[in-house]
Amino acid sequence: MIPIEILNAFGDNYIYVVEYGSEVCFAVDPGDAKPVEALISRRNIKLTHILATHHHADHIGGIGTLKKAFDCEIIGPDKQRISAIDTLARDGDDFDLGNMKVRCIATPGHTATGVCYFVTGKELEAPVLFTGDTLFVCGCGRLFECDGKTMFASLQKLAALPGETHIYPGHDYTEENLQFALTVEPGNETLKKKRKAVQQQNQHNRPTVPSTLAEEKTLNPFLKAKTWQEFANLRKQKDKF
Ligand SMILES: [Zn+2]
Repeated sequence: MIPIEILNAFGDNYIYVVEYGSEVCFAVDPGDAKPVEALISRRNIKLTHILATHHHADHIGGIGTLKKAFDCEIIGPDKQRISAIDTLARDGDDFDLGNMKVRCIATPGHTATGVCYFVTGKELEAPVLFTGDTLFVCGCGRLFECDGKTMFASLQKLAALPGETHIYPGHDYTEENLQFALTVEPGNETLKKKRKAVQQQNQHNRPTVPSTLAEEKTLNPFLKAKTWQEFANLRKQKDKF
């Protein structure tokens, strides 16, 4: 099984590196080039592709440096705001990286043009979803460019993927998200257990990702919302939290 390397940047950003074939890898949302460069030089692998979920600097800040150093192909949405893009990621687009299949899912909400990447392949323990700032463990991204109805529809698209899918988000906001979720459902024992486990992970500087989609559907208040109005209301509460 291929492990997905989880790298940290800027305190709470996650960058992911996936070795998809013999000594070749792709990176997801490299906001900073340094941790990626350090990993690939340590592992002696070649960076061939970068997947970008959206245009925010903390997700793409390292792309220029990495493209220059490794001549890798940049895949992402929104060429206007991510000028380094070689291959545009449009909703429903599929591309192969080695034996892995990457499907692009448009998820407007946090930004108008953001996407998530759903990756499958026999080398992976389970399907993987790179969610950028759309879906976090027990939370979701802020609505910078779209309304609640749009984001709700995007999250519902993700919720329809297989429950065993591993969720790899762009930030570690897990503990704060759980605190908020517990204000929505104060009596939820599973949430309390999860918070305890996450607090321990944080104390030991261990990543709080991935989660699974099935778990998110049980614990994440934004995925549990039944209507876009309910979702939008929760999002407003979280903005003030
Ligand atoms: Zn963002």
